[in-house]
Amino acid sequence: MKIQHVCAYLEEFAPLRLAEDWDNVGLLLGDRERSVSRIMTCLTVTPESVAEAIDSQVDLIVTHHPLPFRAVQKITTDAASTRLILQLAQAGISIYSPHTAFDSTIEGINDQLAQSLNLNRIGPLKQSLDLPGAGPGRYGETGPFADLQSICDRMKSVLQVEKVQASEQENRAIKRLALACGSGGSFLATAAFRGCDALLTGEATFHSILEARALGIALILVGHFASERFAMERLAERMAGEFSDCDVWASRHERSPLSWY
Ligand SMILES: [Zn+2]
Repeated sequence: MKIQHVCAYLEEFAPLRLAEDWDNVGLLLGDRERSVSRIMTCLTVTPESVAEAIDSQVDLIVTHHPLPFRAVQKITTDAASTRLILQLAQAGISIYSPHTAFDSTIEGINDQLAQSLNLNRIGPLKQSLDLPGAGPGRYGETGPFADLQSICDRMKSVLQVEKVQASEQENRAIKRLALACGSGGSFLATAAFRGCDALLTGEATFHSILEARALGIALILVGHFASERFAMERLAERMAGEFSDCDVWASRHERSPLSWY
């Protein structure tokens, strides 16, 4: 099997036209004609994930966060990000990133979060013009998890985190919930427009938290890592089922870079 076959599968699952204009998605490093038998997914390409990929003789890294992300003029060991690109290129390892296309696609990260909370009438916060049901963010009517505490408890168990944060001092009923994985503070106005009582996202700035309070929307912060890493584990399982000739796994050493003390 060739890199191109994996790219075609990922592009069908998360069409690249769904990615945001500012994003950098698809095959970012590599040769589509090269053969592939070992694939590792991860949230981010870091020195640790590069070392793991090289040690385990991976052919392709499927990373949620793109590398390179911004335009690069030099690929040397002088800067941390290009050093990683150079190491992977020298080891013959390709990089594919679906990023915001994966956030927004049907069965993508935000759909998976919405489904894990058993939301009803799930729809995108911003409808994609050419793919019904897809687009940035999700919102829906709450089902069995219909107040702040039960939503937080459910997320802790699904995402396997000890703690989550919320911008409220007391529990409150949540009838309509908005979701945006990663850093979703920019979706507050849309969540308000959609009549949502709460927005669940990975992380937000202090000023977004105050903006949420001013809008009367509860902000639930589960952590950027937790809000997306689980989906790279599920993507590895999905790809392992599709490509039975390949070994596919989610990085075994990747951890949240933050700890609770
Ligand atoms: Zn992210």
